[in-house]
Amino acid sequence: MKEIEKFLRSSDCITSANNHIVCNIKDHDKTATTTTITSGYFFTWSCRIGTEHEKFGFEFGSLRPMKYEQIAELPNDIAERFDWDKIMEDEKEDQWKKSWNSRIPTHHNKMILKIKFLQAVVAGLTYLTTLLSRVLSPKGRLPQQKSGEESEREENERFGLSWRVAVEANNVRPWRTVPPQCYHHLENYMCAGQYELDLNLVVEHIWLYASQIPLSPDGMDAWILDVDDTCISNVSYYKARRFGCDPFDSTIFKAWIKKGMCPANPAVRSLFNALVERGFKVFLLTGRDKATLSEITTLNLHNQGFIGYQRLILRSGEYKGQSAVRYKSAIRKEIEGEGYRIWGNVGDQWSDLQGECLGKRTFKLPNPMYFIS
Ligand SMILES: [Mg+2]
Repeated sequence: MKEIEKFLRSSDCITSANNHIVCNIKDHDKTATTTTITSGYFFTWSCRIGTEHEKFGFEFGSLRPMKYEQIAELPNDIAERFDWDKIMEDEKEDQWKKSWNSRIPTHHNKMILKIKFLQAVVAGLTYLTTLLSRVLSPKGRLPQQKSGEESEREENERFGLSWRVAVEANNVRPWRTVPPQCYHHLENYMCAGQYELDLNLVVEHIWLYASQIPLSPDGMDAWILDVDDTCISNVSYYKARRFGCDPFDSTIFKAWIKKGMCPANPAVRSLFNALVERGFKVFLLTGRDKATLSEITTLNLHNQGFIGYQRLILRSGEYKGQSAVRYKSAIRKEIEGEGYRIWGNVGDQWSDLQGECLGKRTFKLPNPMYFIS
């Protein structure tokens, strides 16, 4: 104990008053003091060990550094409760108080300024993003809800596509008219180029097959082509009938046929010429009435470049009233009966490609405008 007293009293920072000791220990004495205290000795006097309070005082809520007045509450309360003497360094108190409190608003203001700056940056970026979205939007505006008319058009377009796929796959049968909501879809399909593209693709694959067939020198390798909407086109007529949305009118249709103005389907005409040139015997098989339409059909085909076929076969009286399937099956059977080998059979109707003696391969051309059983 005496050693501690000796140590403390030897320090030039010790002040004693009413048996209270205030020990302001310099840095080079701290280790020795700590060692002495932790070794088990304690003072007989009441004592206070000071430190630089401003380095660890913070408010719980805001985490702001404590003000001088807040820090002062602690030693003041201790002094009152335990009857300690307060030793004030009068000449320094005002200076500390002033400099310490002056740090708080400065530090705090800087932080607030930083936060406000960041808020301004975020607000600016948000505004710019919104502005860019408006500028880059297709119509210079933010996406808006579709109108009822737009939604209906889109719905009809989707239905038209489903309808077309279904009828081409022969999943809808029989049918007399195209559903009216398909009109715009079919108009676009038939007149804007997709129909020709589909036709061309099928013809491409037909020729891929036909060009590799080993032909016999006996001249009996045959090919069957339908006429309407295969070799020659009735799209002009069906355009006036809303692409099949209006009911079929045989009188008007016959009047159209009798004009002999059906244009060729260019891709099929090219195929026809290639088949003839290769050595196939091409038979043109149609359900048109032989008695009334033979001459104009022959002329129409000739004018459109269908020259060199083996035979044009129209529906004669004996087949009148029969289904296309039955009639055309009978004709193909006759052709095979003559000794021909039918390698390919092309038509726009499923009834062209069903029944008997179909040939080694059949090819369906697109036609979503009408159905013949
Ligand atoms: Mg046809």
